[in-house]
Amino acid sequence: MRLSAYFLPTLKENPSEAQIVSHRYMLRAGMIRQATSGIYSWLPLGLKVLRKIEQIVREEQNRAGALEILMPTIQPADLWRKSGRYDDYGKEMLRIQDRHGRDMLYGPTNEELVTDIFANSVKSYKDLPKNLYHIQWKFRDEVRPRFGVMRGREFFMKDAYSFDIDFESSKASYNRMFVSYLRTFDRLGLRAIPMVADTGPIGGKLSHEFLILADTGESEVFCHSDFIEKSSPSADVDYSGDLQSIVDDWTSIYAATDEMHVQEDFESSVPENKRMQCRGIEVGHIFHFGTKYSEPMGATVLNKEGQNVPVFMGSYGIGVSRLLGAIIEASHDENGIIWPEAIAPYKVGLINLKAKDEDCTKACDDLYQKLSNANVDVLYDDRDTSAGGKFKDMDLIGVPWQMVIGPRGLKNGVVELKNRKTGEKEELSLEAALSKLGL
Ligand code: ATP
Ligand code: MG
Repeated sequence: MRLSAYFLPTLKENPSEAQIVSHRYMLRAGMIRQATSGIYSWLPLGLKVLRKIEQIVREEQNRAGALEILMPTIQPADLWRKSGRYDDYGKEMLRIQDRHGRDMLYGPTNEELVTDIFANSVKSYKDLPKNLYHIQWKFRDEVRPRFGVMRGREFFMKDAYSFDIDFESSKASYNRMFVSYLRTFDRLGLRAIPMVADTGPIGGKLSHEFLILADTGESEVFCHSDFIEKSSPSADVDYSGDLQSIVDDWTSIYAATDEMHVQEDFESSVPENKRMQCRGIEVGHIFHFGTKYSEPMGATVLNKEGQNVPVFMGSYGIGVSRLLGAIIEASHDENGIIWPEAIAPYKVGLINLKAKDEDCTKACDDLYQKLSNANVDVLYDDRDTSAGGKFKDMDLIGVPWQMVIGPRGLKNGVVELKNRKTGEKEELSLEAALSKLGL
């Protein structure tokens, strides 16, 4: 992509409304713009990262055997009356009426709708287990929308729903999602810590939240200090063993958020010198709630004995749009964002130091063509503007590799290659620079 043809409205100053670094950088790097409180438009750069995160989440759901569907954002209120949640959900639910005066709502989650789909389609234990997911916008009229996409009112969520014939098999479905979450966050360059959680208005008994440790997180975390190492993205984790033992391995070490924290448990499970109190961002939440929805909504199947029984269910959410904020909180410096390669909007930022110089521009154009032909995602700063401004923008955007070409280097047959994360700069021949990028 040529920057001269792109839509990248970067800001030089820190926007005063942004209290935390991820919000500041997302606005400054021209990734999002606020439409109104807690509701954002996604500009090309932000959308590109959102799509990459979405795709990794999708691939890991598919790998775990979940099936993608797409449910609407607008739902009929009647389904929620059936489950009994229409009144319980309170003011967070955006309630609307259509032209016929029928009550509708903008979905804050989809248990009711997916249970209804299941109830109308599946009749026998032979068709189980099933896990259906979608990645769709949600609306919750949060009391205090803040921190940009971290606590929005409209936000993008992956939500999956498992259906099983009995408790044992639904536990296996739960474990499969649990491990799939660890893998998903790993691929995003994050290591999330699973913590026992409250089930809230969704109900049920078994639930874990996945948190990324970050000073700006909204949750207070109490955990064993072993998690510092265990949750480091560079630590080796084997996800190949049997599911229950992986889950046991992660849940046997104490970790709880303020909601679930009990000082006595903390003190009896964690030696004093290992007790850690810090903050975290909730990026995922999984629930097992048995027959809470299947019973009132008539989602029953015939079991082996020929009896009609309600199915056991679980639901599994990942905050896809919140993850952008969480990743930036975990990976940035004073100059801007440092994207992990897997989700970087571009792999290479190509900087033409002197757009007025014909030779320089020719060399840059050629390289841009070459990289594009090799299917490398390149952001090419071909603008006729100051070098200093170009360096600043490229650092802010956080592309992992910068290739800088100027008239002086050209004369000596070298380009400068900068690693955004380490800050390391090298003057290399073009061939050497390309081979360093694996090309
Ligand atoms: P929170 O405790 O942060 O309010 P929640 O427990 O109500 O979240 P869930 O119903 O578990 O949220 O939703 C699944 C995931 O969706 C959460 O783990 C979080 O990552 C994301 N999420 C929830 N609310 C928001 C929001 N207002 N803005 C952005 N992401 C959100
Ligand atoms: Mg939650």
